[in-house]
Amino acid sequence: MLAATHTLAGAAIGTVIPHPFFSFFLGLLSHYFLDTFPHWNLYVGNNNKNSFPYFGALADLGIGIFFSLIFLRENILQFSIILGIFGANLPDIISALWSMLRFPKKNIFFRFHRKIQKETQNIAYGLISQIIVWVLAIIIFIFYSNG
Ligand SMILES: [Zn+2]
Repeated sequence: MLAATHTLAGAAIGTVIPHPFFSFFLGLLSHYFLDTFPHWNLYVGNNNKNSFPYFGALADLGIGIFFSLIFLRENILQFSIILGIFGANLPDIISALWSMLRFPKKNIFFRFHRKIQKETQNIAYGLISQIIVWVLAIIIFIFYSNG
């Protein structure tokens, strides 16, 4: 899934769950959970090449943080939210680091991550699940920041 989607999910988890350890852990679980839904990604079909789209991935992450920031404002600095976002992106961060360092991705961690993916090249279809996550996250941001 897009880093923006994982980031919004992690920020929403950190908003609802005030304990940094649990928001980190649930953020991490949300990553694998969300990756099992049909989704479009920036690097569909490009995953095993050496040309990892670093700039695109950073922009993708930046968009997620930007939208979280719009709704959460200074609350984004809460530990639970920072760690929720971190946990929700961690599998892809590790994957990107391994690509950067040209380490082989042959262990169970990478195999599991690859196996659960349901990527599609159809952008519209692949955005449905992600738009649902964005909307849910924004509803949570609005609900909790006014409560
Ligand atoms: Zn992933």
